[in-house]
Amino acid sequence: MYKVLILGGTSEGVALANKLSADPIIIPITSLAGRTREPKDVQGFLRQGGFGGVEGLVHYLKSEEVFAVFDATHPFAIQITKNAFSACKSAKIPLARLTREPWAAETGDDWHNVENIAEAVESIPVGARAFVTTGRQELEPYFERRDIWTLVRVIDMPAKQLELGRGKFIAGRGPFSVEDEVDLMRGYGVDLLVSKNSGGQSSYGKIIAARQLGLPVVMVRPPELTLETVICYSLNEASEWLKGCLN
Ligand code: NAP
Repeated sequence: MYKVLILGGTSEGVALANKLSADPIIIPITSLAGRTREPKDVQGFLRQGGFGGVEGLVHYLKSEEVFAVFDATHPFAIQITKNAFSACKSAKIPLARLTREPWAAETGDDWHNVENIAEAVESIPVGARAFVTTGRQELEPYFERRDIWTLVRVIDMPAKQLELGRGKFIAGRGPFSVEDEVDLMRGYGVDLLVSKNSGGQSSYGKIIAARQLGLPVVMVRPPELTLETVICYSLNEASEWLKGCLN
C-alpha cells in the first residue's frame, strides 16, 4: 500500500482524493489548513492544521512514510506550495502540483488586471459598490476605503457583520450558477466585481455573470512561482504521473 499526501483546500483536491481512494493500492491522505469550519466530505483520510513549516512537513512525510505528494492547494496559497517543494526535495519524495490554468479575458470582458489586493482596492472607483470575492484574508484594505460599499462573499460567516453603510458579508461556497450570480449582482446593485484569477470552473460563474451584466472586473493576477515542479492540469494527468512514480 502506498500513502499519497494531497495538500488540499480546493475542489480539485477533493476530486483527486475521491479518485485515488478507488485504487486498492493507494491510501490518500488529504491535508487541510483547517480554516474552514465544515470542510467538504472527502474519501480517504483527512488531517487538518499546519505542519509547522518545512521542517514539520519533512517530519510528517518521513514518519507517515508518505510515498508521493500532490500539491492541490489554491493557486494563491504560495507559502504551502513553497514549503511542499522544499520538504519533498529534502525528503526525496516525488511531488506534483495539481493546479488550474488562469482564466483569460474573452470578448465582452472588461478586466482591470492588478498585481495584488492593495492595487485592487486602489483601483475601485470612488463611491462604487464592489462585489468582493477575494477571500477573507486581506479584507482590511477594502474597509479602510470609507467611500465604497462592499458585498463580501466568504465561506464562513464572520461573527460580526460590517458596520451599517459600509457593506455586507454573505456566506457561500461554490460552485455558483451564472443565473444565481447575475441575480446576486443585480439584487445588490453592484458596479464591479473584484476577483482573484484563480482559474477553474467552480467560481467561473461570477466572471460570466459580470460579462453578461457589462460590469468591470478588477482581476488579481496569480502569483508567479518559479519552482521546478511537475504540473498536472487534470485528474487524468495526475493519476498518470502517479502511475509513472509507482513503476
Ligand atoms: P498559505 O499562505 O500558502 O499557507 C500558510 C500556512 O498554512 C502554511 O505555511 C501551512 O502552515 C498552512 N497550510 C496551508 N495549506 C495547508 C494544507 N493544505 N494543509 C496543511 N497546512 C496548510 O495558505 P493560504 O493562502 O492561507 O490558504 C490556506 C488554505 O486555503 C490552503 O489549503 C488553500 O488551498 C486554501 N485556499 C486558499 C485560497 C487563497 O486565496 N489563498 C483560496 C481558496 C482556498 P505550516 O507552515 O504550519 O505547515
